[in-house]
Amino acid sequence: MTESSVDVVPVAAPTRVPVRGGGTFPVRRIYCVGRNFADHAREMGAEAPASKADRGTPVFFAKPADAIVVSADVPYPTATRDLHHEVELVAALGRDAPPGELSVDDAAALVYGYAVGLDLTRRDLQAAAKAKGLPWDIAKGFDASAPIGALVPAAEVGELAGRTLSLRVNGELRQTSPLDQLIWDVPEILHELSKLFALRAGDLVFMGTPAGVAALLPGDTCEARLDDVLELHCRITSPPL
Ligand code: MN
Repeated sequence: MTESSVDVVPVAAPTRVPVRGGGTFPVRRIYCVGRNFADHAREMGAEAPASKADRGTPVFFAKPADAIVVSADVPYPTATRDLHHEVELVAALGRDAPPGELSVDDAAALVYGYAVGLDLTRRDLQAAAKAKGLPWDIAKGFDASAPIGALVPAAEVGELAGRTLSLRVNGELRQTSPLDQLIWDVPEILHELSKLFALRAGDLVFMGTPAGVAALLPGDTCEARLDDVLELHCRITSPPL
């Protein structure tokens, strides 16, 4: 080994998501879609498109790969008094996209599998950023902001459109929607993302949340589901003193 090839700081291990049935999925990037359910867009005070022809372009943002949490305990973050849950379908890419724009028809073949996750949000900081026209990073991309359940291969999940996403907090139903309510479905989102980024194996895409987002408190337990096919169980723990 030559001197110039020696790492001068320790290399961080990639975050890995367990796959149901065995194996792990190393995470490269996390892309997120905003305002992908009309009822949630409206509850946030944004306009929802009247039809697919009026939907414009999707809203994208990102989280760091190490924001993923696979353990059952999720720490309440610093610097907020209004942590919100957003239950989301997560698509996991198993192959690199070919160079150039990915067609909607070719997009589904890139998907390795799916999970359910939470796009945890410091809602108070997001509202302040929106009011000032500032970026959302500190509201969305904080440590442990992306709890996720086990990945399930796409063939085992089957057709998505007829399935229902839900989140219960302390047993109470907070969010639920059929996935046919997505403004942009998974292939359409991958097509749009491919115009902006080179999609690669290891990328995760959080697909956006339906209405019913609300506050989480230390001690709350979350149960996210896609019917009986995908699930996530976690608990919000107290911040360190
Ligand atoms: Mn979201």
